[in-house]
Amino acid sequence: MKSGCHSALFSVGIDIGGTKVALALVDARGTIQQRITLATEAALGFERAVERAGDAIARLLEAGRVAGPGLAGIGIGCAGPVDPARGLINNPYTLEGWNGCDIVTPLHSRFGVPVRLENDADVAALGECQAGAGRGSDRVVMLTFGTGVGGGVVLDGSIYRGAAGEHPELGHLLVRPHGPPCYCGARGCLESVASGTAMAEAGRAHGWETARELFTAADDGDSTARELVAGVVEAVVRAAWTLTHTFLPERLVLGGGIMEEHFDRFAGPIQSQLARASQFTPANVRVSKAVLGNEAGVVGAAALMVGGGSYQGW
Ligand SMILES: [Zn+2]
Repeated sequence: MKSGCHSALFSVGIDIGGTKVALALVDARGTIQQRITLATEAALGFERAVERAGDAIARLLEAGRVAGPGLAGIGIGCAGPVDPARGLINNPYTLEGWNGCDIVTPLHSRFGVPVRLENDADVAALGECQAGAGRGSDRVVMLTFGTGVGGGVVLDGSIYRGAAGEHPELGHLLVRPHGPPCYCGARGCLESVASGTAMAEAGRAHGWETARELFTAADDGDSTARELVAGVVEAVVRAAWTLTHTFLPERLVLGGGIMEEHFDRFAGPIQSQLARASQFTPANVRVSKAVLGNEAGVVGAAALMVGGGSYQGW
């Protein structure tokens, strides 16, 4: 290693979304040291995007004076679907033309370090578990409420996944019999009731265009809006009941734009309901607000690369 370079372990975390790619140099405590954000420009081609990401990584390493063994690896969280085992992005839905795209091999060849790819919801859950609201716990369930509803599960410090490496589709838990139809094939899924999109849809019939307008009307005392919001809270309470009984986590972390503004509205009823549980000790489950915000992606992606995704000693 050149003199003047840091000897501590750093990781690069990359968070790939439909509109932007965030890259960060993260230290072993999960603190961001350097960051760069690029426009995704998926339609201009996957190879170009990988080259730009590689150039940005080189700039991060230079700015952070990290070289040689100082870099533990590169972790990537990407809007799914992804194939973590093969390192493939298969998401032509929000990343135009990106199907069967191997992002691991070119970055590994260029930087000579381990590279791992995971779904962005899993990575956010890992980030909150290791360096955010779930710090100190190694069984964390996270739900993210934004345009859609996503989630991830971390058990014993590792991302919980399906037989073929899939991530759990927590947005499609059934929470309301005969509820609105969902693109997954069912009716009354958490996503079709409690996402920003679903709330805007439900509010539109009464003149509220967005979830925010619906919440504001409820706070202003409109009885229809209050009823609609109460229905959403009830749906989230049901999901929380199912998830806590399924995974018995130490923490249930609620994130996303909706929870950033309305966490208490949901957390209170969830805690009241969980307090009635007789099949586990309710006090063992804490309901927490996500704290990493937009940084959960890069911090969680970087967390993939230290201790194999499990930061002992953090
Ligand atoms: Zn669904």
